[in-house]
Amino acid sequence: MRSLIESFRKDGEVLDVKKEVSVTYEIPYYLKKNEEKIVFFENVKSYGIKVVGNICSTRERITKALNIEKNSLVEHLLNAFDSPKKVKIVKKGPIKDIVKEEVDIENLPILRHYEKDGGHFITAGIVVAKDPDTGVRNASIHRLMRLGKDKLGIRIVPRHLYKIFNENKKDGRSTEIAIIIGAHPALLLAASSSIPYEIDELEVANRLHEFKCIKCNTVDLEVPDQAEIVLEGRILNDKKHAEGPLVDITGTYDIVRDEPVVELTCLMHRKEPIYQAILPGGREHQLLMGLPQEPRILKAVRNITPNVKGIRLTEGGCHWFHAVISIEKQSEGDGKNVILAALSAHPSLKHVVVVDEDIDIFDDKMIEYAMATRVKGDEDIYIFPKIRGSSLDPTGDQVTSLVTKVGIDATKSFSIPPERFEIARIPWSED
Ligand code: MN
Repeated sequence: MRSLIESFRKDGEVLDVKKEVSVTYEIPYYLKKNEEKIVFFENVKSYGIKVVGNICSTRERITKALNIEKNSLVEHLLNAFDSPKKVKIVKKGPIKDIVKEEVDIENLPILRHYEKDGGHFITAGIVVAKDPDTGVRNASIHRLMRLGKDKLGIRIVPRHLYKIFNENKKDGRSTEIAIIIGAHPALLLAASSSIPYEIDELEVANRLHEFKCIKCNTVDLEVPDQAEIVLEGRILNDKKHAEGPLVDITGTYDIVRDEPVVELTCLMHRKEPIYQAILPGGREHQLLMGLPQEPRILKAVRNITPNVKGIRLTEGGCHWFHAVISIEKQSEGDGKNVILAALSAHPSLKHVVVVDEDIDIFDDKMIEYAMATRVKGDEDIYIFPKIRGSSLDPTGDQVTSLVTKVGIDATKSFSIPPERFEIARIPWSED
């Protein structure tokens, strides 16, 4: 992460805040106000540690960090999911510059973001754990609420870490974890992906951008040797604490729940560590959650029609609820099939727009243009009531997450002469 910030600074993409700033509201305010830039805080009030945010707040920066073209991210992710790469272990690395078994996270500049948040939350923590039987490693991002000098509340949704936690709990054991703060975007993306349980997210990240790991100090786990800060500890099997509220990707507050408690056993960090923060509900949060869903949707839609040109979860849809998919239409029913496939591939998806290949899916005006000129409301809009959607959708049922989904087929109808849809061109070029 450190060298990446340096290279982005040379490109003029870093806003350096030199004045003294507070971890309570002030840093989040700057992150929100300057969402397109990486913001680097050199002088954090009451803490000797620098803070950085918004590293992955644009699609362009994420692709730059991975050294790939903007349009090829989906393909690169698919490839990495299919061909994870073993991570080499090294004996020494900068993360072990400072190792403390007396943990006091009150010395870390953990932010408090919004007015009604329940407290200070670590938001860029990548949690690593292992399946107790198979040893399969998992990495996922969880919000972590500061509860004391060596305690955190951890929100665990029913996915992989939840499974590991429950298997340990059945046998009366706590779950060993390592929390990585300050890692390369490849690791953040891999940890946000919904890939099968058996696939190790660290190995997926290693395929996207090569790195090395080092053994932890008090737990049987490995972390990147170049990480900025690592916390080690256990998710206690027998202790819960109120966690939340915290703002989620919609920019609205999530509720308070009783969630497991983490007891920390070790803190290690580089010399002069940089603490990474992700603003909840900010562009970076949305992109990191949404981008890894695009390859899933693409894969499912490709089963329906091989001629998929592109897929994009849009900013206005919180990178989570709205997808635009462009296809080279072969037969009249393609649009509706693509809608159905997309809605099932990413269950949180709420609205899908399908367009023809001549519409640039990265251009919001062109998407609206397609809806304006190619949609017949009574034939091309499909409404699917009561489907399980996202718990984050404020219109959904709070218990069942049932929502209404809508698909819009904005492709040219084959029953209308194609010349009626032709986008006029001026036959002139400066060459
Ligand atoms: Mn996993």
